Amino acid sequence: MLQSPPDFTLNAESVDSSNLPANTLRLVFRGSELLVEASTKATFEHRDFSSDEPPIVLGRWLDRPVVAAAVGHDTTAPAGTEWVGLRSLFGVMPDPMVAIAGRASQLIEWDRTHRFCGVCATTTVRETTERARKCPACGHTAYPRISPAMMCLVTRGREILLARNVNFPAGRYSALAGFLEAGESIEDAISREVFEEVGLKVAHPRYFASQSWPFPHSLMIAFTAEYAGGDLKPNGIEIAEADWFTRSTLPQLPPRISIARALIEDTLNRLDAL
Ligand SMILES: [Zn+2]
Repeated sequence: MLQSPPDFTLNAESVDSSNLPANTLRLVFRGSELLVEASTKATFEHRDFSSDEPPIVLGRWLDRPVVAAAVGHDTTAPAGTEWVGLRSLFGVMPDPMVAIAGRASQLIEWDRTHRFCGVCATTTVRETTERARKCPACGHTAYPRISPAMMCLVTRGREILLARNVNFPAGRYSALAGFLEAGESIEDAISREVFEEVGLKVAHPRYFASQSWPFPHSLMIAFTAEYAGGDLKPNGIEIAEADWFTRSTLPQLPPRISIARALIEDTLNRLDAL
């Protein structure tokens, strides 16, 4: 699972972004692409770049300040480095760095898309006391947006329900997932999404874990739930195929860094013990 390292701290207020120490870890983004060493893709680029706004302070890691900066879309990568989309660094760059880069990319994207007030269109300014951009004219304040999404692995005895999303490569299956609608609880969303996607009713939702997912700003909240009725019928819009599987009949699963894979493996272990 993608998780921030335990030694990463959010004490951003202790870092002065206008006077950064030499050991600052600087994540440089061009749009959604991160600057990395071309040969290893495993280290961040520390070089100073001029950006329109001061870098965003993320916190500290291994006792170094961590900041993220955005540069213009025509910025070329220095020799030995390249711009790489975050998703393609999964499983290539060390997981703790990917997690920190995921935090950085969400804040860079939020900052980039909230430069003007959504109410009166005045240019906003960054607050110094909290992570927010505020409109000096009308006072409207924008905070980083996080969009909750539920993931649900449906169980029936020792079987699990896996589905192939229409956008998945052929043969790849995972748990069901979908975004929450305004006004819903996670439990509401589980019942609705499972019914909409495959026509089943479920009961006894059971929390597993959550994972930040920076594409662009999701929080995936994973549950299991027990089959409680209905005939399996993929809706054909989001879900191309779905079926019941046991450990011995598993299809191709999502990559190890995903919460889906952790949810599936943990659930199979639990069902084995039944
Ligand atoms: Zn305003």
